[in-house]
Amino acid sequence: MNIEQKVKQAIKKYQLCNKKEKILVALSGGKDSAVTAYLLKKFGYDLEGIHIGLGLGEYSKRCLDAVKELCERLQINLHIYSVKKETGKTMRDIFKHKDKKLSNCTLCGVMKKWFLNKKARELKADKIATGHNFDDGLETFLMNLFKGSSELNSNSAPILKTKNKKFIVRIKPLFFIENEEIKNYCKKLNLPVYKKICPYRGETYRVETRNFLKNLSSEEKKNLMKNSLKLAKKIKKEEKEIDYCEICGEPSRKNICKKCDLLNSKL
Ligand code: AMP
Ligand code: ZN
Repeated sequence: MNIEQKVKQAIKKYQLCNKKEKILVALSGGKDSAVTAYLLKKFGYDLEGIHIGLGLGEYSKRCLDAVKELCERLQINLHIYSVKKETGKTMRDIFKHKDKKLSNCTLCGVMKKWFLNKKARELKADKIATGHNFDDGLETFLMNLFKGSSELNSNSAPILKTKNKKFIVRIKPLFFIENEEIKNYCKKLNLPVYKKICPYRGETYRVETRNFLKNLSSEEKKNLMKNSLKLAKKIKKEEKEIDYCEICGEPSRKNICKKCDLLNSKL
């Protein structure tokens, strides 16, 4: 099966989306989200793009340029938001935050998820599509296992839903597609993407996990994915209800959501 057939199959099997829904594709400027947008558009879904400006200098500027060019080429509407404009702080200000041992990538992740959910709701989107791929999924699953994280279930699935009315369902159409295949496909189509690694990334636990995964065979990786999906299904049933953040009103497992916790800490 080629990438298009595999993505179509995943959409059907996991009921990721349908043609009546408005889908907001989260565009970073990288290959994964570009290919996600390209495929969903090609398959005829009602698609719009969203980009969150993180305020990471030249890197962010180049990412935005790539996203704009992609949306022009695919003829999709693009919504752009800026962390600085809406919170008064850039991600670089937030990185300086020393209270917790959180990596820069984790901090950006918290901010992106918060913005995506809130803005998708305001834009009346039914689903948010991200570019997370097979390798990302395995890394997340292993990282949560290694860390004994209670979020074991939350990212190990092609579709994430909760009963919370303010939570916008997130879908990952490339969940079963390996990194290499996406890279080749993106290259073949010559989609506009910014290829540089974020200069603020550093050596994260994710990178270590990625290196660990390189030692596994393709079959072992597929088995790991199978088990991760089985486990996610079981854990889902026991999941604690998600409530609302006391400060911003967004869905949150704790009284104060991760984003408000970050912004309220001394920066
Ligand atoms: P990452 O966490 O950077 O690996 O990104 C995972 C997915 O989140 C990407 O494939 C995009 O769909 C989405 N994403 C990442 N960065 C942004 C951004 N700045 N704006 C909108 N979506 C993003
Ligand atoms: Zn909050």
